[in-house]
Amino acid sequence: MKYDYLVVGAGLFGATFAYEAKKRGKSCLVIDKRDHIAGNVYTKEQAGINVHVYGAHIFHTSDKKIWEYINQFAEFNNYVNSPIAVYKDELYNLPFNMNTFSKMWNIRTPDEAKEIIEKQKAEYKIDEPQNLEEHALSLAGKDVYEKLIKGYTEKQWGRKCTELPAFIIKRLPMRFTYDNNYFNDRFQGIPMGGYTKIVEKMLDGIDTKTGEDFFDIKKTGALSDGTKVEYDRILFTGQIDEYFDSKFGPLEYRSVRFETEELDTDNYQGNAVVNYTEREVPYTRIIEHKHFEFGKQPKTIISREYSSEWKPGVEPYYPVNNDKNNALYEKYAAEAAKEGNVIFGGRLGQYKYYDMDKVLMAALECVDEEFGK
Ligand code: UDP
Repeated sequence: MKYDYLVVGAGLFGATFAYEAKKRGKSCLVIDKRDHIAGNVYTKEQAGINVHVYGAHIFHTSDKKIWEYINQFAEFNNYVNSPIAVYKDELYNLPFNMNTFSKMWNIRTPDEAKEIIEKQKAEYKIDEPQNLEEHALSLAGKDVYEKLIKGYTEKQWGRKCTELPAFIIKRLPMRFTYDNNYFNDRFQGIPMGGYTKIVEKMLDGIDTKTGEDFFDIKKTGALSDGTKVEYDRILFTGQIDEYFDSKFGPLEYRSVRFETEELDTDNYQGNAVVNYTEREVPYTRIIEHKHFEFGKQPKTIISREYSSEWKPGVEPYYPVNNDKNNALYEKYAAEAAKEGNVIFGGRLGQYKYYDMDKVLMAALECVDEEFGK
């Protein structure tokens, strides 16, 4: 079998690239080492509920073109993400907004909230925040930082907030209105019927093989059943350091483990996402999958999310984009640039904490570079 492209990884980046390549008359073989397509956006039906097997995925974007692009493959519902934060026996709305502040300080107006935050900020005298802790303190003050950010972030990243880059927290809106929408983006929703269907549609008519390891194919020139494969170019969406045999040393990633349970109740926590922000609770959040789609099933499925450092044998989820890793990544990127016939893409291939809309944008940019506009 001879193809124009071997696409390594059947996630959003790889599938978008393959779909666009096919439209341009190119042939692709898409492979994935897992036994299913869709990468980390994979959803699987259980008890009539679409389970986000690799964690909550809420599509949101401010880019109309990207919104229209993804809507070719699915209809989206009107889900709006409004997580709840539990700190000890206190409950708060996220993101940080007037509902959060009014609960925390028993106040009502934006001016009252701003005054308290200003007073708390003043204690720290931070002119130019250098890390996540300083950024969070100067943005939201001590109470919000200690109750809603510090414990969660240190669990999630396994590092002190003083050792983490501020951009991680800049993802979260902070507003002085009574608005619990987690995102500022203009468009948001969950694809009705799950994410896997999107990727299925993208890969429709494209040769796709799951359970195939790229490095084995590279070595043997054949699929696991012995079929010989040839290809002109490679799109690689796996870990860039692994591609180069970690020759400059391994990049760091965070992994997540999910404890998923089917429960005999129709509503466990009343919300899709509940974050546990104190350090002492071992998981970061509990997802109740049915609420992403306003499910009315008699049962429910929940997943507790435990964060851990990545090591070989578990799935990498998040690049740890601190200075040390970014510098190391640059070395790999320089090698990648020399690799004539290989394109690197996606969260793992570009070592970037991409949201789904940014993955699509990057994939479409890659398509433009490859085939011309
Ligand atoms: N975060 C926090 N408290 C929360 C939720 C998030 O401090 O209750 C911080 C934390 O550092 C996290 C970052 O905000 O890593 C981004 O959170 P988001 O929910 O966007 O992350 P993702 O869904 O990609 O894991």
